[in-house]
Amino acid sequence: MFWDNHMHSNFSGDSDTPPIDMIKSAKAKGLRGITFTDHLDIDYPQQYGFFDLDLENYYPTQHELALQESTEDFTILTGLEIGIQPHVVEGCYKAAKGYDYDFIIGSTHVFDRQDPYFESFWEGGNEVALLNRYYECILENIQAFTDFDSVGHLDYAFRYCKNPQIRNNTHEPYKDIVDAILEKIIQMDKALEINTAAFRKGMSNPNPAASIIKRFHDLGGKLITIGADAHVPEDIAADFDKLPSLLKECGFNEYYVYKNRKPEPYPLG
Ligand SMILES: [Zn+2]
Ligand SMILES: [Zn+2]
Repeated sequence: MFWDNHMHSNFSGDSDTPPIDMIKSAKAKGLRGITFTDHLDIDYPQQYGFFDLDLENYYPTQHELALQESTEDFTILTGLEIGIQPHVVEGCYKAAKGYDYDFIIGSTHVFDRQDPYFESFWEGGNEVALLNRYYECILENIQAFTDFDSVGHLDYAFRYCKNPQIRNNTHEPYKDIVDAILEKIIQMDKALEINTAAFRKGMSNPNPAASIIKRFHDLGGKLITIGADAHVPEDIAADFDKLPSLLKECGFNEYYVYKNRKPEPYPLG
């Protein structure tokens, strides 16, 4: 009876799924609840697409739907996934305060004005150096914008690296900067998101990898959130069956669901 606390609907620039279809799928899969976390990426580089969010319609529509479709056994919450960039933090703060969101994920999709999702990002660059820079940007972003609850898909950029050895080694070569990020998350009393979309992108671990999750625990981290980052109904809670044993081996017995921006613990299966 899991919650899936990271998913998108057609309010996001990269999903065509009406929210009601996500809800129906989540109910059919027997989940305890879900959180919509549609994309807000202010000033996303135009050459890649459009990821602004219709904030004035998003919360009122999703919240109304949540009231209609939630039951005693199934709860729908409304959140945001904010793509942080240093020059847009003012807009991020304004958006976060605009409505009574349950949960805000702080993600880094774009850094130095490039998105690693696209091949042009990797052309001609030293992959390890680019990925080290990616971690540095995450640390800068979560210090510049702090009105979030959980850090989204920490080693996300690796998903799109073509070299499998580099793609699947997201911790060891970057230990110092990863430690600095994890320590900052703990110090700020934020959560680390465990994102299972990585499995669908051919990675052998969630984002972040198990060794990073374990390190978070060993440094004193308590708050983790989980999400499949579904953009289509069939991906809701995908690969969640892998999580209980993986997370228990990392030292966690529970995960957290944010309601009204406050964490509530749930047992891991
Ligand atoms: Zn994301
Ligand atoms: Zn997402």
